[in-house]
Amino acid sequence: MALIVKKFGGSSVATPDKMRAIVQRVLKGKKEGDQIVIVVSAMGDTTDDLVSLAKQITTKTYGREMDMLLSTGEQVSIALMAMAFEAAGQKAISLTGAQAGIRTSDAFNKGRILEMEPDRIMEALRDGNVVVVAGFQGITGHGDITTLGRGGSDTTAVAIAGAIHADVCEIYTDVDGVYTADPRVVPTAHKIKEITYGEMLEMAKLGAGVMQPRAVEMGSRFNVPIHVRSTFTEDEGTIIQEVCSMEIKQYLIHGVASDKNVAKITVLGIPNKPGYAYKIFAELAEKNIDVDMIVQSVRVAKEGVTDITFTIAGTELPEAMSVLEHIRSQMHAEDILIDKNMAKVSVVGAGMAGHPGIAAGMFGVLGDNGVNIEIISTSEISITCLIGEECVDKAVKAIHDHFFGEH
Ligand code: ASP
Ligand code: MG
Repeated sequence: MALIVKKFGGSSVATPDKMRAIVQRVLKGKKEGDQIVIVVSAMGDTTDDLVSLAKQITTKTYGREMDMLLSTGEQVSIALMAMAFEAAGQKAISLTGAQAGIRTSDAFNKGRILEMEPDRIMEALRDGNVVVVAGFQGITGHGDITTLGRGGSDTTAVAIAGAIHADVCEIYTDVDGVYTADPRVVPTAHKIKEITYGEMLEMAKLGAGVMQPRAVEMGSRFNVPIHVRSTFTEDEGTIIQEVCSMEIKQYLIHGVASDKNVAKITVLGIPNKPGYAYKIFAELAEKNIDVDMIVQSVRVAKEGVTDITFTIAGTELPEAMSVLEHIRSQMHAEDILIDKNMAKVSVVGAGMAGHPGIAAGMFGVLGDNGVNIEIISTSEISITCLIGEECVDKAVKAIHDHFFGEH
């Protein structure tokens, strides 16, 4: 008897046939007494299509209305999936995020789950239902629908798994696990069997697209094992959990990640006085813009003035522009430079702490390949270099070869 949450992404539920195939697979694997919650995304490219519909109406962002619109995609999927279960003779019920008790903050488009009230899910499970919940959405204290950010269905699934104390949260997707690098870029990349939350979080944040970082964070907080696996094969995928087996722990580096959605912003010539960095980043935070790498440099020749460089997601640049204009005029910045064509390449591995030479190895490979490093940042388990977007695939390949190739 197990309590399992299974999440199926957009490509897995793209057509009625695919939905039926999922139902067959779930029922085949379901043992007597198993309780199953299914979390689904919108069918295929529905969310993208809804975004482009909105763009045809206006270029302005209306957070609340956008969430009202985007959340409809998942609602279509849950209704059809519940019908597909019923048609196969399995009692089922669909629940929206609100009905499933997912309470969020009122940051539209980026809602954060504040609280879970899973009573209705539990009751429906006890009544013998497969419970089909809409991913990516929740409801605020004011009763407004929010969405959880693109890819947010993963977070829904893990949050539910945490709240109902599920044995495992299975994330079914069109790749069969987490790889040491993107296999489309590095054909020799291999599937990672087990990885810790910390490493997976770092990989996800640094660009490994398989899972939404917040979902991994959530898994770690509630200690829910997450199994990332293929919708189309029975193979074991990648298990994300707190402690990995001895064999796995030997790796110094677990993966190479990259992210092309990076813009670099440099604010030139602002007073080198207390409070200025605060002003810049407080304004960005107020707009909910995540700042990533930050470097402040003191110009020796011209005392009293400093430059601050930081990176944000390239897709957030339009929103950041108004803040930057305000900063330019308010702080009398000399200039603001923006480079959209940046990318990050990172190595991740819990084993790197206490093993000198990983950073040197990475920088050496980049140097040998003529890739210039603009900013470096490190955490205990990762090293990230900001480089030109045009070099990133070459860099990922060379770094992967260096750490995983036969040397
Ligand atoms: N449908 C949403 C998206 O495309 C959420 C998800 O798929 O996880 O981002
Ligand atoms: Mg870019």
